[in-house]
Amino acid sequence: MVLPSLASETIVKRIGLFGGSFNPVHLGHLLVAETVREACALDKIIFIPAKKNPFKKNAEIAEAHHRLKMLELAIQGNPSFAVDTCELDRDKVSYTIDTIRILRQTYSADNYQFFFLVGADNLTGFPDWKGAEQLVTLCDFIAFGRPGYDNRITEHPLTAGFHFVETPLMEISATEIRARISAGKSIKYSLPEVVENYIYEHGVYLPVDADRQGGGREADAGDRSQK
Ligand code: ATP
Repeated sequence: MVLPSLASETIVKRIGLFGGSFNPVHLGHLLVAETVREACALDKIIFIPAKKNPFKKNAEIAEAHHRLKMLELAIQGNPSFAVDTCELDRDKVSYTIDTIRILRQTYSADNYQFFFLVGADNLTGFPDWKGAEQLVTLCDFIAFGRPGYDNRITEHPLTAGFHFVETPLMEISATEIRARISAGKSIKYSLPEVVENYIYEHGVYLPVDADRQGGGREADAGDRSQK
């Protein structure tokens, strides 16, 4: 009797890779990730916070440990979500092609298929990404819409093969959240409550004076101690 070869039955896991500044992570990120995970039957979505985003060199960015902690808090309770710190662990600009190569050391191509998530705001600029021509050969790309951007795959040969997934369009941006915090406005319902609590407890994005005075959240400053 010939037994079936186990070696030929390698199970390939489908892994979504979601890179970004996550400064801070918000419900727009989370809903897109969950929608893509389900639509594309991905086994896992790995959020990869960037140490330095090559296209946001001058942007105000919270310390890496804060952005990481906020991500960890945001994804707790979703067993299909994980965070990888490979970009934070490098003291260099985070280029996706380098990140994919590093992740391949842990996730072999024989066992894991990579799907890199790209928002509509990054589609037209994709051909300028470092090693874009090689990058499209290293993993699949999944694009999704974002309010205020042209939510179509561009005709550029490098992005023409991207899969497009319809996701709910949520007009939330990290820039707007940071601006609202600085202005003492509410950020409720833009991000998970546990992340909102973390921001105020640690004074992330608060002007130093406002932090010292416990300011920055007039409406509900009374229910939690401020540091
Ligand atoms: P900022 O406002 O600081 O530029 P951001 O949320 O645009 O922040 P990242 O944290 O780097 O930037 O986001 C990672 C990716 O998540 C972005 O490239 C974008 O494609 C996607 N994204 C962010 N917000 C939304 C949203 N509201 N809807 C859909 N996609 C989003």
